[in-house]
Amino acid sequence: MYKKIAKEIKKHSIIVIARHIGPDPDALGSSIGLKELILYNFPKKQVYAVGAPASRFKYLGNVDKLPEIEYDKALLIVTDTPDIKRIDGVDYSKFAKVIKIDHHPFVEKFADIELIDDKASSASQLVIELAKKNHYKLNEDIASKLYLGVVADTNRFLYEYTTYKTLELVAWLIKKTNLKFTSLYDNLYTKSLKEVIFSGFISLNMHITNNGLAYIKLTDDILKKYEVDSSTAGNLIENYNNVDKIKVVAFCSEDKDYIKCSIRSKGPIINEIASHYNGGGHIYASGARPKTFSDVDKMLEELDKLCQDFGGD
Ligand code: AMP
Repeated sequence: MYKKIAKEIKKHSIIVIARHIGPDPDALGSSIGLKELILYNFPKKQVYAVGAPASRFKYLGNVDKLPEIEYDKALLIVTDTPDIKRIDGVDYSKFAKVIKIDHHPFVEKFADIELIDDKASSASQLVIELAKKNHYKLNEDIASKLYLGVVADTNRFLYEYTTYKTLELVAWLIKKTNLKFTSLYDNLYTKSLKEVIFSGFISLNMHITNNGLAYIKLTDDILKKYEVDSSTAGNLIENYNNVDKIKVVAFCSEDKDYIKCSIRSKGPIINEIASHYNGGGHIYASGARPKTFSDVDKMLEELDKLCQDFGGD
């Protein structure tokens, strides 16, 4: 599969790389990292990494505005995205060839070549493997993007899908490029004082059911009062995922036309319920976009029942 992808990369002179809407560091690291990797090895190709800019993660590089291209000659590579509706910034059906590189559970086929490993820690890990298996040249800048993608999605190598392979590939990346990886953490982990204060509000006001579901509903007024936005709670959710008495945690913030929910689990499989509310994701890390707070209540009821059925303390 990795060789097949390399063959398509070699064959196409125009390559567009896309990732999912509402990007996180893995989506950005894998797509921008892959763009730079291809350009470093094939400097004459036209390569673009597209999707809405994410100013919060600008240290992972800039996205490109896609110029007029000849779609019938172009290759699209979509990273970190299992379904069509979440591809940001391009119409996949216009391209001559499409490749998917993803680590989410399978949702739908949209590419000619689908490299899916839902046991891989991150899409960035798959891009590192692509580089290794095809003997691509690498530099420290490319490595830093791929490394941060892995680190962010594994929460510093904490989560279950961190395997021997993850560590082996990361060690290879560090050795090959002499990556000064400890100096990269400031970007990823520096918090604003506002976020820390808001986290205090969440800790004091979240509800925990007898079945082990922790949740908080955050209205616009609360977000304004704490001078944060709808994505802030989602950025803090990892802090609550290893607290005793909590099996599943859901933070739901008002966001214009819908309620943005981040959900994490220590055991119950949550992505099925998330998919009932305009969402999806991984088995222990999902997102959903219910339209109203009354839909949020229905989702929380389902999650609470899931915690009850899961049993344990
Ligand atoms: P988040 O809580 O936004 O960090 O998302 C956690 C995981 O769920 C990521 O893998 C996302 O790609 C996925 N996810 C988030 N929102 C959605 C959605 N609306 N639909 C499908 N997957 C989502």
